[in-house]
Amino acid sequence: MPETWPEGVIARYLTAAGAALADPALAVDITVDAVPSLHPQTYEVQPGLLDMSGRITCSGCGTTAETCGGNEYYEASREDMTRYLADRSRPAAQSHAETCRAMPRPTA
Ligand SMILES: [Zn+2]
Repeated sequence: MPETWPEGVIARYLTAAGAALADPALAVDITVDAVPSLHPQTYEVQPGLLDMSGRITCSGCGTTAETCGGNEYYEASREDMTRYLADRSRPAAQSHAETCRAMPRPTA
């Protein structure tokens, strides 16, 4: 069955519950946030610089966590930085997905 990924999701890891129920919506998503970087002294936006961070979000239990980054920013290639931060988020996503057995409350 085709399953569309939420906007901005770079990689998905099926959770243990998702595997047991054959439900691909139960997954840990990797995203990379990018917000305008502020100058450390003046707190004014530094043009062209972004603070970027990797994040995992579990649709089964609602856990969300920043896995890396925070003060990292790009100067030349946003794509390279996104790939780097996503790769660094993979171990956390993998280990959470392997152990997460949470099931979402039925909405119907
Ligand atoms: Zn979870």
